[in-house]
Amino acid sequence: MSARGHSVHSMPTDTLLGFQRATRHEPDQVVVARSADDIRSALAADDLPVAVMSSGHGQGRVLDGGTLISTRQLTGVTVDPARKTAWVEAGASWQHVVDAGAPHGLAPLSGSSPGVGAISYTLGGGTGLLARRHGFAADHVRRIDLVDMTGTPHTVTADSDPELFAVLCGGGAGLGVVTGMEIDLVELTTILGGGLHLPASPGVLDGWRRWTGTVPEEMTSAVAMLVLPDLPMVPEALRGRHVAQVQLAWCGDPAEGREVLAPLRELGIILRDTVREIPFTESAAVFDEPDRPHAYRSTNRLVSSLDPAALGELVGITGPSAPVTTVVGIRHLGGALARPPAVPNVVGHREAAYSVMVLSPLEEPGDAAVVEGLHDTALTLFDDAGLGRSLNFSYGAMTPEQVRECWAPADADRIAAATTAIDPTGRLLSNQPMPR
Ligand SMILES: Cc1cc2nc3c(=O)[nH]c(=O)nc-3n(C[C@H](O)[C@H](O)[C@H](O)COP(=O)(O)OP(=O)(O)OC[C@H]3O[C@@H](n4cnc5c(N)ncnc54)[C@H](O)[C@@H]3O)c2cc1C
Repeated sequence: MSARGHSVHSMPTDTLLGFQRATRHEPDQVVVARSADDIRSALAADDLPVAVMSSGHGQGRVLDGGTLISTRQLTGVTVDPARKTAWVEAGASWQHVVDAGAPHGLAPLSGSSPGVGAISYTLGGGTGLLARRHGFAADHVRRIDLVDMTGTPHTVTADSDPELFAVLCGGGAGLGVVTGMEIDLVELTTILGGGLHLPASPGVLDGWRRWTGTVPEEMTSAVAMLVLPDLPMVPEALRGRHVAQVQLAWCGDPAEGREVLAPLRELGIILRDTVREIPFTESAAVFDEPDRPHAYRSTNRLVSSLDPAALGELVGITGPSAPVTTVVGIRHLGGALARPPAVPNVVGHREAAYSVMVLSPLEEPGDAAVVEGLHDTALTLFDDAGLGRSLNFSYGAMTPEQVRECWAPADADRIAAATTAIDPTGRLLSNQPMPR
């Protein structure tokens, strides 16, 4: 055991476990950081391999030996109401930021699950509940404090180092260890949001697709499709059914929002309707995702359009006859996401109109191969309109070639140059094999 770290044997087991349970780091020691200085000294102490864990939602590759830096105690958030900004520490989840902003009538560009770490989400771009109105989370970063692999701290802004700032905003989590970040907040206390559950069918998916072509930017929506278990914890109307859950977040006038979403109620039988005005502090209700740690794998495509025939086939191959449980998640993009940000960054494939993700829980040891086969078949349906991949929506390690597909080739080269400059020996094991 080192003087600064803790032997893994003396740590509570859950210090090594993230939300993602498919993988587990096996470090020699764990540094549970209680300050940015702890992160600096952990990196300066030696040149052992190192990995960072916040909530563990995005864990991919695992560390074997070396030092794991856990940021889970660094959850501080300081709001500056006059500037409408928040300073967010390395381990803060979106719920920490949402709760800190709410008393000031301010909200962050957080995503579907408020337990996700705000820093890594933003480094990967960040497609949130207000995305079509305000753009990517990475488009609203003002300052990043990071530590390089020698333990040297750097404060990076668009003025101090425009190239490194551009690459950090959207270039993923391979560029040193971020100790804190200043981000913009937007004026917002409530949204009209929730889910409309209908029986899954090609007609429902295509109806949602057509409807997305008509909605203003205040509407950010997605559709999830899954076969729900026939269990008491599932609402009775949905038990054992193949369901399409249209997930809606409207940030304009609520009465107008109700009119905008009205055509969706004509798409089929509404099995369950949870749409209501909700405080943003309860924004988890929109996607209503599982908040219990588990093992999962996903892959995705960013596409320029959705082919109705492909949607129809997708319903069939991921439904009750699928060899493994598969959740389909399609998000409507465009709007502010498609516009260049005020300060340039490397967020990839802004022109994408939708993201298509397939996700499966890994319940049995042999599941991974079957899951990968099914996911490949499902996403091949969208090859004709494929633009690339989303880094954030890839759960489970990708190949280096797949990771590069998250950006335009020239931007992947810029990320590689910055990564090599900050971490010449490849000491930092990020969740994905980043360009270098
Ligand atoms: C249920 C669920 C919902 C999601 N919803 C959305 C969504 O709506 N929109 C969206 O864009 N994404 C979403 N994501 C994806 C999520 O943004 C990424 O998986 C993100 O990487 C998770 O970060 P984390 O800190 O929570 O996880 P962690 O696994 O702790 O971190 C992910 C990786 O980031 C690196 N890292 C973490 N902290 C730091 C740091 N301080 N400095 C440097 N590197 C660091 C580490 O390499 C780590 O492997 C979702 C993921 C899940 C599982």
